[in-house]
Amino acid sequence: MSVNQILARKGREVVTLHPDATLDEVARVLAKKKIGAIVLLEESGEVAGIVSERDVVRVIGTAGVSALSHRVREEMTMNVKTCTGSMGIDEAMQLMTDGRFRHLPVCENGKLIGIISIGDVVKRRIEDVEREAAEMREYIAS
Ligand code: AMP
Repeated sequence: MSVNQILARKGREVVTLHPDATLDEVARVLAKKKIGAIVLLEESGEVAGIVSERDVVRVIGTAGVSALSHRVREEMTMNVKTCTGSMGIDEAMQLMTDGRFRHLPVCENGKLIGIISIGDVVKRRIEDVEREAAEMREYIAS
């Protein structure tokens, strides 16, 4: 089971902003799109960073609501871990577990082609386990 198979079902749309956007814009987009993270792209299309709801809470919790005027460039995570479409979902889940983050942008040849969350991966794993159990029951009964 690969990351590409998850993208085939959920789609390849990625919500992005420019790193000069403010945290206020980040919070609005997260709320409007009902998502947990936004990828920040430079004009060139290069991934500059990632910001999640956790970063917004951290900034407000430490600097107060006035920090919502900060540029996301100042608060984003710059060392973004990514995966490829051909990566297996177990490996992708391991990357997220080891790095303690829940979002993994998918890149091919330096271009952003999708994003998966730990929720997407867990949903897919549960479906697989349920299907395997049903097949096993059918095999035993036949
Ligand atoms: P999350 O669990 O995705 O809400 O993110 C927790 C923290 O990890 C936040 O500081 C994010 O900026 C950061 N983060 C999220 N996704 C990634 C990623 N793929 N690579 C590196 N850092 C990330």
